[in-house]
Amino acid sequence: MLKQTIASLEQLATDDPEVARVALMYRDAILAFDDPLWDITRLTLHHASPEQAHPALHNQSIGIDPDRVRDLMRTMASSGKLAELAPGLDRFIDTQDMIRFLQVMIEWDVDELQRIGEDQDIEPAALLALGNTVLMPQFHRIAEILADSVDVESNDIGFCPVCGSWPGMAEQRGLAKQLWLRCVRCGTGWKSRHQKCVFCDNTDHKTLGYLAAEGERESRRINTCNECDCYIKVFATVTPLTHADVLRVDLESFVLDVGAVDAGYHQPAQPGFPIEVAVQPASELADRF
Ligand SMILES: [Zn+2]
Ligand SMILES: [Zn+2]
Repeated sequence: MLKQTIASLEQLATDDPEVARVALMYRDAILAFDDPLWDITRLTLHHASPEQAHPALHNQSIGIDPDRVRDLMRTMASSGKLAELAPGLDRFIDTQDMIRFLQVMIEWDVDELQRIGEDQDIEPAALLALGNTVLMPQFHRIAEILADSVDVESNDIGFCPVCGSWPGMAEQRGLAKQLWLRCVRCGTGWKSRHQKCVFCDNTDHKTLGYLAAEGERESRRINTCNECDCYIKVFATVTPLTHADVLRVDLESFVLDVGAVDAGYHQPAQPGFPIEVAVQPASELADRF
């Protein structure tokens, strides 16, 4: 299965220059999912009650190996030929205080990211894209570890119950067409319902709509909300998508995002829930690992 997903992403990189860089970075992230080095965070995460109102990662300490992150960043920067876009990137990867950067990325602190970008003379948008993708394997493992700390069936919340991100897409799953929201960052899926905007809770059918190509409404579409002007992509699936396939489908459907933006909709710039965390370097945990 994983091989197929990797092959699809590589094919996408060949076929579509517009998404080629991201496709190869996603491939690198997926190939790193099973690296045991991400397991170090088991030492710092604690399990919580699934009834809690905030994401399971909120107020946690996250053990991370910054050298592993730096290595993966170099691999991704090379695959995506990012130095062509951001000449200062190699220096950034070599010299940036990685613990501080990861803290900023995990908390989605846009102001602080702006400051780091100015210090290092790199576009914050480029840092955001790289930082988000490089953290996916660590988040993938965090979601596995914290799976029993979240209620994915009945909370009916908009943000990811593990990491607080907004969903990047939704599945309309099986014959029952149950709506499941999916987090692109950590892979978590959680149940939602139709006829409600996941971003602002609007349930007024007069301001909820959809965009779909002729004959595609049931298989893939964009749900829109005219209260908050946000959109979410929705795909019909038979069984739950793996995290790797969430990344693949997200990228393969890039044309839907373009259509949504052209129609005046956007995805929220701020996280669904502003989590606060403490990033703990692996060196402080090494004797326990
Ligand atoms: Zn998440
Ligand atoms: Zn809305």
